[in-house]
Amino acid sequence: MEIIADVWDNIVQGLLEPLYHFNNPEKRINYFYIISSLLLAYYVYYKAKEKIPFYKYIFNKKIWLSKSAFIDYKYFFFNGIIKIVLIAPIIQIWWYLGVTINDWMEESFGFSDVLLTESELIIYYTLSLVILSDLMIYLVHLAMHKIPFLWEFHKIHHSATTLNPITQYRLHPLELILNNVARVFVSSFLIGFFDYFYAGSVEAATYLEINIFAILFLFWGSTLRHSHVKLKYFHFLERILLSPFQHQVHHSDNPAHFDKNMGSKLAIWDWIFGTLLRSTEVAKVRFGLGKKEERNYNSFSKTLYMPFKNIARWFMRKDKRS
Ligand SMILES: [Zn+2]
Ligand SMILES: [Zn+2]
Repeated sequence: MEIIADVWDNIVQGLLEPLYHFNNPEKRINYFYIISSLLLAYYVYYKAKEKIPFYKYIFNKKIWLSKSAFIDYKYFFFNGIIKIVLIAPIIQIWWYLGVTINDWMEESFGFSDVLLTESELIIYYTLSLVILSDLMIYLVHLAMHKIPFLWEFHKIHHSATTLNPITQYRLHPLELILNNVARVFVSSFLIGFFDYFYAGSVEAATYLEINIFAILFLFWGSTLRHSHVKLKYFHFLERILLSPFQHQVHHSDNPAHFDKNMGSKLAIWDWIFGTLLRSTEVAKVRFGLGKKEERNYNSFSKTLYMPFKNIARWFMRKDKRS
């Protein structure tokens, strides 16, 4: 009976978890960022000289009530449960892994001669975390586009034919787990590394504190990345920071735009690896995988099982050939 109660508890927690995002300053759909995004959207609306009223421009029924959007909404709650059940344990080993790396460094190199003050530690740690986790997200995303087995799972995110802020949660659970493992790996590595150069014991909370860079990113329209609002940055800036429109280009079904703009916050990785496309280089964007392929992903259940079906098919074809 206790197990049933536990499972039930997890499901309820999982279903409620996404709703806390409106209140969490680390989440893109926090009400504070929704307000800043609305202001930025108004600027785009005003510049584009749209003929319809602003509320109709924002709450376009064709976008918010599309079949594709309802799949996103289901993922929003479904992945809430996945997070509680599968991802919470990964986050729990976060701290432990850091301690292990720190111990390993002390054993291998002895105690450090260079020690950082607490403010130095926070500045260096935060900067390294922003840069390294952004690079990690880029590399994982690149792998998802280039490795056929992983692409089958990442396709779910790209199968959205309309974009709204909830589309960011439209991720196959396997991709969600992979992203979190990568994130945990980077933070654990950095925690262990910086602990080695710090004499005191730094509270876990110091590391978990939301950093100013993340707030700026979230404030500056990250909610609009998944939307129809074409917010572009200055041409030069789009080499350093990805604008919401640059992510919308990433969702384009035009082969000329495939595998472009794979970064998260920073555009420099796309710039360095030659996958950058800036707003001025793109005229029109239609979202999705192309009409023919999209039909395979037009329901929530299909998006869940299609990757496995495609991979099984691929193996069977390979079997026949050999
Ligand atoms: Zn992608
Ligand atoms: Zn996206």
